[in-house]
Amino acid sequence: MSLSASDSPPRKRPRKVYINHTECKKRLNVRASRLSGDEYVSAWSGKEKPGKKFARVLRCCSEKCGTKIPEPVQLLKFESFYNEKTKELQDASLASCIKKVPSSPVFRNKQWCYHLRVSGNERKVCRQFIIKLYQVSEKRIRVIQH
Ligand SMILES: [Zn+2]
Repeated sequence: MSLSASDSPPRKRPRKVYINHTECKKRLNVRASRLSGDEYVSAWSGKEKPGKKFARVLRCCSEKCGTKIPEPVQLLKFESFYNEKTKELQDASLASCIKKVPSSPVFRNKQWCYHLRVSGNERKVCRQFIIKLYQVSEKRIRVIQH
């Protein structure tokens, strides 16, 4: 039995080397678009990723925080989040919605609370609301909390 070419182990994909600055710039543009929530073409898969579109949060939890926060306020928060220039600034604005609750025997499982500043007042919301409004992953919230 002879080995044909297809029997040989798959070769590793060679690492992409950027030989010119345009390739490099393209990647930076992708990064900027990802931050601002605009659509971008993934450098890795070459697929177009849809941009983030604002959608009013209506369903989150039994408290229905989404219905208590008016749509214009949600839109404003969404836009200011995606107008941040760096991931660090975005994270900072996320972090400003998250507060650590001093642990007490009563609230043992509620270590974090989430709120949104609405015309000078803090409105309590749930974690699901924050995730849905800013369209971020739970992981990103977790990273901020550590
Ligand atoms: Zn809720």
